[in-house]
Amino acid sequence: MAWDFETDPEFQEKLDWMDGFVKDKVEPLAHLGFHPADVKNPKRNALIRPLQAQVKERGLWACHLGPELGGKGYGQVRLGLMNEILGRSPFAPTVFGCQAPDTGNAEIIAHFGTGAQKRKYLKPLLNNEIVSAFSMTEPQGGSDPLLFTCSAVEDGDEWVINGEKWFSTNAKWSEFLIVMAVTDPDAEPYRRMSMFIVPTGTRGVEIVRNVAVYGQQDGSEGHVRYTDVRVPKDHLLGERGGAFVISQTRLGGGRIHHAMRTVGACRRALDLMCRRAVSRRTRDGAIADKQAVQMQIADSYIELEQFRLFVLKTAWMIDKYRDYKKVRKDIAAIKALMPKVYRDIAGRALHLHGSLGVSPDMPFAAQVIGSYVMGIADGPTEVHKVTVARQHLRNYRNVADPDFPDYAMPQLKEAALEKYGDIADTVRDLEETLGA
Ligand SMILES: Cc1cc2nc3c(=O)[nH]c(=O)nc-3n(C[C@H](O)[C@H](O)[C@H](O)COP(=O)(O)OP(=O)(O)OC[C@H]3O[C@@H](n4cnc5c(N)ncnc54)[C@H](O)[C@@H]3O)c2cc1C
Repeated sequence: MAWDFETDPEFQEKLDWMDGFVKDKVEPLAHLGFHPADVKNPKRNALIRPLQAQVKERGLWACHLGPELGGKGYGQVRLGLMNEILGRSPFAPTVFGCQAPDTGNAEIIAHFGTGAQKRKYLKPLLNNEIVSAFSMTEPQGGSDPLLFTCSAVEDGDEWVINGEKWFSTNAKWSEFLIVMAVTDPDAEPYRRMSMFIVPTGTRGVEIVRNVAVYGQQDGSEGHVRYTDVRVPKDHLLGERGGAFVISQTRLGGGRIHHAMRTVGACRRALDLMCRRAVSRRTRDGAIADKQAVQMQIADSYIELEQFRLFVLKTAWMIDKYRDYKKVRKDIAAIKALMPKVYRDIAGRALHLHGSLGVSPDMPFAAQVIGSYVMGIADGPTEVHKVTVARQHLRNYRNVADPDFPDYAMPQLKEAALEKYGDIADTVRDLEETLGA
């Protein structure tokens, strides 16, 4: 009997330290006017580097990595509990060395990169000396990657890349971009694209614009144009035609880590909601004593706990199977659930804070936008729901029955009685005798 919802005391100590550290030292960074990915900003480095050093000293740096890459190999359940704390602040993942999109980029370089690529890019990336971007989505559409047109053509010892990408997060601070481009237009659809490591300073890489997510002061979503960008042949990442397989490796882990951090963001909203409810008063008492307010707190708690258990169960399955493909349905399900839970809880927290709630003094308006981001980035909710349904229906394909449904009560009763053999006759006799 292995069901257990307890954290072992040794690990709980680490979580307690993280909790205090994030509240005390990391959350205030959000008010100082710089971006966590701006690695060349001296103010950012003066404040963030010493905090990163403390995290390293505690052995909590880059815990998403396996021991072969210098991580602790804690596994996804423990990572889930840690990410719940990191989700409280947009700066916390950077302070703990596990910020997107660098985590996913590091993961694919570690899996698919050559020795030389790892030496050049992986170590500084894992140390947060540099940051990176993932350049896949195109201006004409992101949900359907078969529409992508950015191309890479061989020319002597080089690849020549032409095309445009959209929402390449952190492109403006990045040392390199991982670019997905069509190399084999005539191959079968999912073998048409390959991935490349493109140093951002390469001639022909132009950041047309840095689009902002609503409410951000400075945009960091790069609209990037690639015009005759030449990279040496050895900048191909993984095998030619392998971009879809590589991106699935990247996105599977990324999606559950987003969900884990969203648990933390929701918890923060609920926490603030409760503190507000007991503190804010009307003429006849605290708003916490109003049933209408209690309903909102109860709904938030219930939704958060359901979501959290689903996330942790999925994390547990990843640890058990060590294969994202086997857990695809549940990862897609939590990806689809996440924006709704986040939006509902952040929205209620905003509402219960009244006018203060809509101001940038509180995190809620950003969280509500963040909830929509969670429903779009890494693929829209609709696409993930289709994955859930298709995967779930697989269990039913072999029970397809043209006569189904047959709900007529007399047939159901006969079918049920047949299961009881001789006893069925006794039941029928009794029914006749009793006139039932
Ligand atoms: C904050 C943020 C950061 C991002 N970072 C990156 C990044 O670093 N690198 C990168 O490459 N991309 C990034 N993206 C892009 C992201 O992957 C795309 O936004 C996403 O894939 C959706 O593509 P789209 O925006 O073109 O929307 P569209 O494809 O135009 O979809 C718009 C809407 O159409 C509907 N829709 C689309 N397809 C279907 C379907 N099959 N069935 C039903 N309805 C459908 C959905 O309602 C969907 O929301 C980021 C996005 C955001 C918001």
